[in-house]
Amino acid sequence: MASIELRNIRKAFGAVEVIKGVDLEVRKGEFMVFVGPSGCGKSTLLRLISGLEDITSGEMLFDGKVVNALAPSKRGIAMVFQSYALYPHMTVYDNMAFGLTLEKGQTKDAIRQRVEKAAEMLQITPYLDRLPKQLSGGQRQRVAIGRAITRDPKVFLFDEPLSNLDAALRVATRIEIAKLHEEMDNVTMIYVTHDQVEAMTLADRICVLRDGLIEQVGSPMELYEKPNSVFVAGFIGSPK
Ligand code: ADP
Ligand code: MG
Repeated sequence: MASIELRNIRKAFGAVEVIKGVDLEVRKGEFMVFVGPSGCGKSTLLRLISGLEDITSGEMLFDGKVVNALAPSKRGIAMVFQSYALYPHMTVYDNMAFGLTLEKGQTKDAIRQRVEKAAEMLQITPYLDRLPKQLSGGQRQRVAIGRAITRDPKVFLFDEPLSNLDAALRVATRIEIAKLHEEMDNVTMIYVTHDQVEAMTLADRICVLRDGLIEQVGSPMELYEKPNSVFVAGFIGSPK
């Protein structure tokens, strides 16, 4: 069964339609990457999936159930943005624990365990007592990812999470994200990027978007070897 199914999803802001009928199945445990030019609707599509924006029409299903009207907090989704908005006055530990303290029935010990496990996965254990301003950009982005992990989501949405990092940190954090996907069984990831290398190395499948529509979906090899348009070829870097 598909983890996420989009059926003829449309989104308009006022009179302007920016998502124009998207059909897509993302499989459980899949790493799906969205690419496409600036303004084609990648962020909007993530926000629709997370429930931060309402769809204008169409149907969205998670594990076979319609979630069109389900509140964001009930969707089992964690979102990691480009600008990792950490709480500046809280330690790394408290930043990571904060969401859990809002959940009912979480004991202090259970919270500590989950934070420590996430910190270990991301190798930020030494920084748990620091404030965000005492961390590098890459470390801060790991904390933001760690904060998402502690919520134990079924689906991760990443919106260009590495674009504020310098080249070396981008590679290191990318490898960290790939490892995370491997370690977390059946966690589905949808990842928006501008970076071809990120798309090719992380994706099980890549979805190429163009002006609010899907141009092509396929594995990196499929898109590389059989792009169905010059547009797709241009994004994947093949010679067609
Ligand atoms: P991408 O992430 O691919 O760069 P976006 O999803 O951010 O693209 O935007 C797609 C289109 O929708 C753009 O034309 C953008 O201006 C428009 N848009 C996004 N959010 C809003 C909004 N809240 N109100 C009006 N227009 C919006
Ligand atoms: Mg965007």
